[in-house]
Amino acid sequence: MNAPRQRRAVVIGGSMSGLFAAILLRRAGWNADVYERVDVGLIGRGAGIVTHEEMRAVLRAAGCDPSKDLGVDVTMRRTFDRAGALAGEFVCAQTLTSWDRVFRMLRQQFPDDRYHIGKELARVEQRGDRVVAHFADGTSAEGDLMVGADGFRSNVRGEVLPEVKPLYAGYIAWRGLVDEDVIPPPVHSDIFDAMVFGLPPNEQFISYPVAGRDNDLRPGHRRCNFVWYRPAEEATELRRLLTDANGTFHALGIPPPLVRAEVIASLRDDSRMLLAPQLDAVVSLTPQPFLQPIFDVETTRMAVGRVAIIGDAAFLARPHVAAGVTKAAEDAMALANALRAHDDVAAALAAFECERIPANMRIMQRGRELGGYLQPHLLSPAALAAAERHHTPEAIMSEIAVLDF
Ligand SMILES: Cc1cc2nc3c(=O)[nH]c(=O)nc-3n(C[C@H](O)[C@H](O)[C@H](O)COP(=O)(O)OP(=O)(O)OC[C@H]3O[C@@H](n4cnc5c(N)ncnc54)[C@H](O)[C@@H]3O)c2cc1C
Repeated sequence: MNAPRQRRAVVIGGSMSGLFAAILLRRAGWNADVYERVDVGLIGRGAGIVTHEEMRAVLRAAGCDPSKDLGVDVTMRRTFDRAGALAGEFVCAQTLTSWDRVFRMLRQQFPDDRYHIGKELARVEQRGDRVVAHFADGTSAEGDLMVGADGFRSNVRGEVLPEVKPLYAGYIAWRGLVDEDVIPPPVHSDIFDAMVFGLPPNEQFISYPVAGRDNDLRPGHRRCNFVWYRPAEEATELRRLLTDANGTFHALGIPPPLVRAEVIASLRDDSRMLLAPQLDAVVSLTPQPFLQPIFDVETTRMAVGRVAIIGDAAFLARPHVAAGVTKAAEDAMALANALRAHDDVAAALAAFECERIPANMRIMQRGRELGGYLQPHLLSPAALAAAERHHTPEAIMSEIAVLDF
């Protein structure tokens, strides 16, 4: 008698969701290959990531050891007012890691010969209980299941749920990293051991320490990560920010080196005017700040035929809950568990969807609540007044980047 055929998953996207899914599916007895559009390694990408116990649990299930050098541990949160005086402190123990660190941990758990780079999904074909990925280079891959883990502009989602589109939230995040050793000692002692907030009107600034290059956790070799959320009206300010020196408008996000010098100069001017001196120092010392428009993506389905979509491809929540990687990990875990529990793939996908849609909707909703006051031009006066209650030092320090809401 022939041994049962090992079932095969074609995973599109080789970042957080894709690696979590591919590793966990292999552990559940599936054959899984990852197809990533970018044709160079992804190492070196991204910035700081707040971790939660739920993320550690899935890392362990994926064979990683999050107890070893996951990131920088902090126990305090602090808010500084415009003048640099302490406006509040709050105890909150968290490990602050980086996208790069988590990527490396996961990548080590996945075989090189199953991770295919330079493979851009162009089209999805469903044939009964088989699904075929057609790539832009003319090649294809076939399996029993496709996992769309290709981020918030997902081509997989575009193929199976074309009506779901990213919606601009009305604000952007400036982000950046500064080497610890260039931070002046008085600023270092105020900010480096904590998650630190600044609250200009209708804006939010956060900084926290993360590992240095090559996951260096030695004091003096780490980095400070900042995220500064600022309203940007779509037709005017957003257009200005996303237009490069040649006049080209990058609607999908502008590559960091193309951000115009005058845009960076106006960011630094605003930082001097609006932020506490300690926080302004972080912005002014950042060699290359980069910006990301904030979008919402919310789907009504996470499975269509033999295609599952996970992570940002399914739900892009505003970053205030800091749960993007955690929810990607939990989507992947739920998918692998459902496929373990049900031989029938359709039944497994139905169970997976049933578990994950409500969980993701909750995080989406919380992100919208916490980010409401960053969209003053989009909200009614009553809605804005309601959102403002999340903009006090007490609320910010107890509500941002925590999952127990
Ligand atoms: C300002 C900000 C702060 C954040 N802070 C946190 C935080 O503190 N904690 C946290 O958990 N999360 C945070 N996040 C969110 C987190 O970064 C994302 O949720 C997470 O990276 C999503 O992973 P993903 O794999 O689903 O998508 P992505 O990381 O976007 O990966 C998608 C992958 O698919 C590939 N791809 C795209 N199209 C194709 C195609 N057609 N064919 C093949 N491959 C393709 C891409 O190249 C990419 O590698 C933050 C996000 C922002 C913007």
